[in-house]
Parts: sequence; C-alpha cells; structure tokens
Amino acid sequence: MVLSNASNGGPWYTQLHWQILLGLLAALVYALAVRQLIGLSPIESIEGTGDTPVDLARSKMQGAHAFAQQRQETLQQLALWREPFAFVGQLFLRLLKLIIIPLILASVVSGITQLDGPSRVGEVGFKTLGYYLLTTLLSVTMGLVIVNLIQPGVGLNLSLGATEALEPTPLSEVFLNIVPENPFATFAAGDMLPTIFVAILLGLGLLVVGEEGKPLVDVIESLEAVVFKVTGWIMALAPIGVAGLFVDTLLDPELVDLVAFFSDLGLYMLAVLGGLLAHALLTLPLLLYFLSGRMPRDYVRALSPALLTAFSTASSSATYPLTRECVTERAGVDSTSADFVLPLGATINMDGTALYEAVAAIFIANALGYDLAFTQQIVIVITATLAAIGAAGVPSAGLVTMIIVLESVGLPAAGYGLVVAVDRLLDMCRTCVNVWGDSVGAAVVEAWSTPADT
Ligand code: ASP
Repeated sequence: MVLSNASNGGPWYTQLHWQILLGLLAALVYALAVRQLIGLSPIESIEGTGDTPVDLARSKMQGAHAFAQQRQETLQQLALWREPFAFVGQLFLRLLKLIIIPLILASVVSGITQLDGPSRVGEVGFKTLGYYLLTTLLSVTMGLVIVNLIQPGVGLNLSLGATEALEPTPLSEVFLNIVPENPFATFAAGDMLPTIFVAILLGLGLLVVGEEGKPLVDVIESLEAVVFKVTGWIMALAPIGVAGLFVDTLLDPELVDLVAFFSDLGLYMLAVLGGLLAHALLTLPLLLYFLSGRMPRDYVRALSPALLTAFSTASSSATYPLTRECVTERAGVDSTSADFVLPLGATINMDGTALYEAVAAIFIANALGYDLAFTQQIVIVITATLAAIGAAGVPSAGLVTMIIVLESVGLPAAGYGLVVAVDRLLDMCRTCVNVWGDSVGAAVVEAWSTPADT
C-alpha cells in the first residue's frame, strides 16, 4: 500500500482517506471470512452469557459439555486469527497516545503566544465554549425529538438483570480535576484536560512576561515543529493501524449476538443512529456553511482520515493528532485558533455522546415502564450536556457518564445494563460525530475570530 498524506492530486489510491477506507473494507472482509472459516455466524457471540437463542439451541443439541469444549476451541482459533491484527492496531493506538501530550503542550502554548494579548485568549476561549455548548444542546434536542418520535422500548417491559455496578466520577470531581496538583503527574498520566489547563496557564504566562519568556517560546516552537513532523509519520500509518483495530473489534469474542438483540434494541439503535446522522449531516453542515462559509462536502473530505480513525478507535482523544492534522493541513484552518479549539473539543465537546445519552435514558425509561414528564426531559437535556462535557474522550466513557443522566430523573443506575450489549457499535458512530463536531467548531471559531486572532 502506498502511504501518502495527499488529499488532492495523484491517483485516488494514493490519497489517505481512500487508503483508510480500503483498510476498513479489507478488515471487514477478513473478519467475515475468519468467522465463516471457524464456523461462526457473521455477528455471533461465542462468549457472553451463553443464553442467546443461538447458544441455547446449540447447548440443547450438543449437550453442555461438548458445547463448552467447542466454545473453548473456537476461542483459541479466533485468537490465532485476531492477535496479529490486534497487535498492529494497538501499536498504532500507542503511537497516537504517545504524541498527544507533547502535541497539546507545544501547540496550545505556541498558539496562545501568537495571540496578541491575554484578552484575545479570553475572547477565543469564550467563543469556543459558547459554540460548543450551543451545538451540544442542539444535538441533545435533536436526539430527544427523534427518540420521542420513534418511541423505542415502549411496551417492552424489560427487567433489570444482575449488572455489575458502575460508579461514574461525580461531575464536581470531574471539574475539580481540571486543575492538576502536579503538572508532571498529569503529563505522565496522559490526562488531556488538566494538560490543556497547564498549557493555557503557561501560554498566558509567556504572553504576559514578553521578552523574558522568548527563549522558552523558541524552545516550544521548535518542539512543535518536531512533534508535527512525527504526527505526520504516525498519520501515514493510519490505513494499516485502523484496519488492525477494526479486525480487533470485529473478532472480539464478546461481540454480542446482534441478531438476538436486534428485536429489542433495533429501534433504540435506529433512534441513536438517526439522531447522530441528522446532527452530522444536517445541523453541523448548516452551521459550517452559514457560520464559516466553508463547503461541507470539501470539509468532510479533508476530515475523512480523522473521522474514519475516530470510528475505529472509538476515542476522540486518541484521534486528536489526526484531527489536528486534517483540520489545519488538509482543510487549511488557521492553526492559531484550531490549536486552542480542537484539544478542548476533544475533551469537552461531545455532541454525539450527549445525544446518545439522552436517547439511551429515554429508551431505558420506556423499556422499564417509566413515564417521563416534559420537565424531566428538560432535566435530561441539561444533565446529558453536562455528562458529555464530563466524559473523557475514550471508549465507553459516555456509557458510564450516562448513569448521571439516569439518576437525575430517578431512573435506576443499573438501567445501563439494558444498552451495554450494543454500546461498542454506537460508540464508534458517536465518536465520529464528536470529532466532526470539534472540527466544524474549529472552522467556525476561526471565522468568528477577528483578523488579529488568526
Ligand atoms: N468514545 C467517545 C469519545 O471518545 C466518548 C463516549 O463514550 O461517548 O468521543
């Protein structure tokens, strides 16, 4: 495979987004072929609880012992086909994580030192937060409209099985943790939000001391140049890395039997995916076009490597290096505002997650037979927005913070157990929307900034 960063020119197969798409397609074909080869249906679970219709039918036919033995063998075979790809995918993920903290430190600090004064930082920050809050609220509202139209879960009368207790971090603690006690411990732990906080403080300090800070600014700018170069190298590996991660997910032994769940969860998935699509294909493109004047089609094309990586990693944080590269290098958004808007977006702006949490909460209420009043739906809008801000950009974070939404309207926390089975697929899709929302935000804030900002 020819590796290239080119977004324009050259045959299509030398363009990164096509290479990543081909990688995803090859991964899908490979995973389906392996499942066929070892005698699994395309989306059947082989671990799980053993009580899906497929499992029960098998165990009746074969007897419990033979069934268990066959499972064991199938698991071993699956691991053999899966491991080399999982290894490559994890390597790619590690490379992305490796570059995140240096990238944030260098780009946020140097972005701030290029603004002409602390008040400009405040202005860009204010616009960024305002824009993010607005789009998250729009997204949750879209989710609520769709879920109220489709009404998934009504009449299901599901009961809560024994589910492992999950304890989300209280929101007050999430906000407190933005200010780290020890910056070096934060860098070492790879925590994005406190790192951004330190970078903003450092940038502001350098801006205020002026001439005296110049040597440090020079060092940071030179670090920035190196980090950007390395990010470009990592990005060129995306087609292979993304394919590895996709095979890893598709051959996960815990991939639950979607067919068995589809009858109950189909409408719920439809509501989440419908809401995500509406927000990604209607609301955000309209905002992009009217607020920044950019053509949505060109912008999505420039962003596609990051969006496809978001899909296969299910992590906005891990995707951040690619998001930054796509927004600034491929779409040409000025890096001074993008370097401020994007890292913040990767951690606090989660349109997809907020929408998902609201839809899931309503589905759980419906399925358990609770009737939510209009005022409770308003509470859901507010808590889903806050819970999404508090969710980290890592896989399944939204599932855990959804418990905050459930508790806010008196639904049982264990309700999350009803939707956990299909969470990975929805996580991949909502992460794409999260990254798309951040990227649109970068273009809008750039357009909102006065020339002096950029
Ligand atoms: N995986 C999502 C993200 O990284 C967060 C979530 O679980 O919704 O953006």
